[in-house]
Amino acid sequence: MFSLNGRVAVVTGGNGGIGLGMARGLSAAGAHVVIAARNEDKSRTAVAELEANGRTATALAVDVTSEAAVTAMAGEVVRRCGHFDILVNNAGTNIRKPPQDVSIDEWRAVMDANLTSAFLCARAAYPHLKNAGGGKIINIGSLLSTFGAAFAPAYGASKGGLVQLTKSLAVAWAPDNIQVNAVLPGWIDTDLSREARRQIAGLEQQAVSRTPLGRWGRPDDLAGIAVFLASGASDFITGTAIPVDGGYSIAL
Ligand code: NDP
Repeated sequence: MFSLNGRVAVVTGGNGGIGLGMARGLSAAGAHVVIAARNEDKSRTAVAELEANGRTATALAVDVTSEAAVTAMAGEVVRRCGHFDILVNNAGTNIRKPPQDVSIDEWRAVMDANLTSAFLCARAAYPHLKNAGGGKIINIGSLLSTFGAAFAPAYGASKGGLVQLTKSLAVAWAPDNIQVNAVLPGWIDTDLSREARRQIAGLEQQAVSRTPLGRWGRPDDLAGIAVFLASGASDFITGTAIPVDGGYSIAL
């Protein structure tokens, strides 16, 4: 039910953090993982790690904010791997400032990296998933898909938008047997959240005390949900947004 043998899974931003955690899970379940990110050294290291575990993987250099680069990536995946079955829209960034201090360039940079990128990658993947008889798209949202934070206006807007994009894609492509879901991670220990901890006083402890399971998440905590949403086990689930947050979003 959870086997991904013979499937090709593209993970944007899969060369570190949450993306690599999910890539490890997808790879262990049998998928050929394509790591799609900008930093080629980090991507090569990620591929080497998956290969060291006896799996196959490919690194593709791509800036997911570029329409041309994303279109080329989708073609390259099919040319090199034969097909394209699973897309994980994980690449993302943040610029932490109160709304009144955010420039239009900063707003666009965050929206492009987090939201427009997911649209571009999903649109580029669509014909290939359809040709394969169906597929899976997993969009990585955030606690800020539902909560608000003074320091993250563009990030929150992009992550809220991702949940709505998920629903539109899920409805539009259901007849093609493509299921589209979002995952909403809680506080996970990665480069991105390490930067947040440097910028937001008290966050390190606040995340632990507010999380019922009492710890920061680890990238590998996202492996299971990635396998579930990429596999036949979730074939009747589409358009949802599933928190993986140690209970953060249900605790008062
Ligand atoms: P990291 O900074 O560790 O990873 C982000 C990844 O995105 C990097 O691998 C980076 O690779 C890639 N990336 C960024 N911009 C681009 C781009 N333009 N084109 C291609 N790849 C890009 O952060 P996380 O692992 O924490 O974040 C992963 C996702 O999880 C993000 O969407 C983030 O918003 C989300 N998230 C994280 C949480 C956390 O607590 N850590 C909580 C909730 C959501 P490269 O630089 O090589 O391109």
